[in-house]
Amino acid sequence: MKNLHLILGDQLSSSISSLKGFKKNDLVLMCEVMEEATYVKHHPKKIAFLFAAMRHFALALEQKGYQVRYVKLNDPSNRGNLTNEVARVLEEFSIDKIIVTEPGEYRVEQIIKSWKKKLNVQVDIRIDDRFLCSRESFQKWASCKKQLRMEYFYREMRKKYRLLIEKDNTPTGGEWNYDKENRKPPVKGLSSPKRISHKKSPVLLEVLDLVSRNFAHHFGDLYPFHYAVTREQALLELDDFIERILPKFGDFQDAMLKGEAYLNHSLLSSYINAGLLLPLEICQKAEAAYRKQKAPLNAVEGFIRQILGWREYVRGIYWLKMPEYGDLNYLDAMRPLPDFYWGGATKMRCIGEVVSQTQEHAYSHHIQRLMVTGNFALLAGLDVKQVQEWYLAVYSDAYEWVEMPNTLGMALFADGGILGSKPYAASGKYIQRMSNFCKSCYYNSNEMIGEKACPFNALYWNFLTKNRKKLEGNHRLPYVYNTYDKFSDSKKEEINNQAKSIFIRLGKNSL
Ligand SMILES: Cc1cc2nc3c(=O)[nH]c(=O)nc-3n(C[C@H](O)[C@H](O)[C@H](O)COP(=O)(O)OP(=O)(O)OC[C@H]3O[C@@H](n4cnc5c(N)ncnc54)[C@H](O)[C@@H]3O)c2cc1C
Ligand code: SF4
Repeated sequence: MKNLHLILGDQLSSSISSLKGFKKNDLVLMCEVMEEATYVKHHPKKIAFLFAAMRHFALALEQKGYQVRYVKLNDPSNRGNLTNEVARVLEEFSIDKIIVTEPGEYRVEQIIKSWKKKLNVQVDIRIDDRFLCSRESFQKWASCKKQLRMEYFYREMRKKYRLLIEKDNTPTGGEWNYDKENRKPPVKGLSSPKRISHKKSPVLLEVLDLVSRNFAHHFGDLYPFHYAVTREQALLELDDFIERILPKFGDFQDAMLKGEAYLNHSLLSSYINAGLLLPLEICQKAEAAYRKQKAPLNAVEGFIRQILGWREYVRGIYWLKMPEYGDLNYLDAMRPLPDFYWGGATKMRCIGEVVSQTQEHAYSHHIQRLMVTGNFALLAGLDVKQVQEWYLAVYSDAYEWVEMPNTLGMALFADGGILGSKPYAASGKYIQRMSNFCKSCYYNSNEMIGEKACPFNALYWNFLTKNRKKLEGNHRLPYVYNTYDKFSDSKKEEINNQAKSIFIRLGKNSL
């Protein structure tokens, strides 16, 4: 009797359910396969981070006495995909059962489910209890709701996990949400605190060499490489964030600055999503900082809401709505993704800045993803699948379960309002208020019409009018349509012509 315990690249937690009940004679399988590294062209930093973290995790398991079969990407007998690697083990050993924790992506779950028939083997798929709301619990919560709103889900999660909750079940401080305190525009002197760095292990150096030789043609810079690749290193980053940076997380959470990719964000998403850190331990550490008066409530509540609320909520939506969710395109957005998303030239400083930060770090913070690259894609009606593939490829924390609802639902409103109550559409004024990008831009954020007018301005009104039939009934939008209706006919025509000229320039890659 021998079981095969399969650990996927984002399941690097020693408490993972697939390792429960491991017996001396059993085998752990971990593999680096080309199919997973290339089904979209992932950023080289993401591939290096994951391969190095996987190799370190395998070594730690071996030290604990697990028997591990680790297949490296450049192993000459590597068969290139998960199914073939599992089949190879089945040919070499007499395996009773495959044990695996439910994968993050629908696509991978379909592959795993096919093994019973294809490989003639029993497969035990276990719940991923690192998430704080199981797929089943989310379904139950959703089944009795008319609308699925994150805020109400989040309140239930706060009560369930007793995070920032008083003995009488009321929220700490009296409010559930302190977001209104977290939207301050940048001020003079705001900058990114210095982050801790890690010594590169021989394992990481080997992986960096492998990635530089195999994935140099993917978008993104491999060097300098600054990611943590073990749980110990990720914990150092977490503790450093909680102690030094969390106190300032809230106030300028939405601010954006040229050359400052991180500001006061945690940079923890890649580690949580790969399993090096667990969501509950992070939330508990953040709450402890508040209880010890080391961080203010608006910062701690805002931070916990992202993890306990948004992160769990988007995963719930993904599994509730897949596979149909991936094909939604409510606003019929079909314009090809312009070259400047891949580093091509653009005169729009905001886009240029976010794309170059992304290229350098495989990271940009939430508001840059939502209100710059996401907002442009929404206003210009860029092809939903191409935009979604871009987000999946370029960020080190990107996995479909979290990326798809954020892109398709939150940024592009392609789900017609399942996830968000209205489109996050904004003109250049928002970017001007929340960043210093416009100061050095070729375009003028205060102008709507003319060669030098900020493209976001006319595109904003064009988006609203083009999609009027679908959006007018939204209870949060009458105000903007009333404003538009008060414009003179000549102004409306100017906006229309301006949008046409923007699309022509977009098509010629000269925006
Ligand atoms: C278009 C778009 C695509 C996105 N794609 C991804 C993705 O592929 N992977 C990913 O992890 N996040 C994604 N996000 C959410 C968010 O932008 C990132 O989680 C965040 O920027 C990660 O940086 P951080 O760790 O510094 O986050 P912080 O700002 O420090 O927030 C703390 C943590 O909260 C969680 N979080 C915050 N916002 C969200 C959210 N909207 N959804 C889920 N978790 C959240 C993350 O785990 C994050 O580490 C996307 C957002 C948008 C608008
Ligand atoms: S002026 Fe417009 S295009 Fe330029 S940075 Fe500002 S918002 Fe972006």
